[in-house]
Amino acid sequence: VIAELQARAGVHPLLTHPAPGGGSRRCQPVIICGSLLSKSTNLGGLARTSEIFGLETLVVPDLKVTEDTSFKEVSVSAGEWMTMMEVPPSKLVPYLRLKRSEGYCIVGLEQAARSKTLGSFAFPRKMVIVLGAELLGMPVDVLQELDLVVEIPQLGLIRSLNVHVSASLLIWEYSRQMLEAGGLLG
Ligand code: SAH
Repeated sequence: VIAELQARAGVHPLLTHPAPGGGSRRCQPVIICGSLLSKSTNLGGLARTSEIFGLETLVVPDLKVTEDTSFKEVSVSAGEWMTMMEVPPSKLVPYLRLKRSEGYCIVGLEQAARSKTLGSFAFPRKMVIVLGAELLGMPVDVLQELDLVVEIPQLGLIRSLNVHVSASLLIWEYSRQMLEAGGLLG
């Protein structure tokens, strides 16, 4: 499947980002926002997954996390390739409003009363994915900023998935839809 993703990527006009060595990184118009996360392992995992699926930017609460040993261990070299920017939790709401004004749909990943089930709807192409905090989930002021809330259906007893795992499932479903529509990375 990845080979197919890569092959398809080659035939579409792409957004590009500079990559080490003077080349460029092909990307999808998706920003993943981890401003509310505090664990460097989760942010490191997100850096890796975001790089692999060609997301545009990973937002972190503090860029110092990239110097953390556990971030580096989980992200492998993704921290060097992935475009990252810093938005602390206190600036998250204005950041989301700015991105909406630039045409991004603000999509939250959360178990909420108004959530739509992952797989039951078509994703907008250009979006910011907002993740909830590891322990407390999504605060009300951020929930109010979301254009769409997505929930992953669960069968087991445990209340929630790990945040990086749930983000990865969403990123895959988005990529799958874009691939099916023939617009992946294009
Ligand atoms: N402790 C919180 C949940 C925290 S889980 C609670 O129980 O309410 C951390 C984050 O992972 C959530 O905020 C959400 O962004 C994501 N997440 C985990 N499981 C999810 C699911 N089944 N559907 C959607 N998002 C999920």
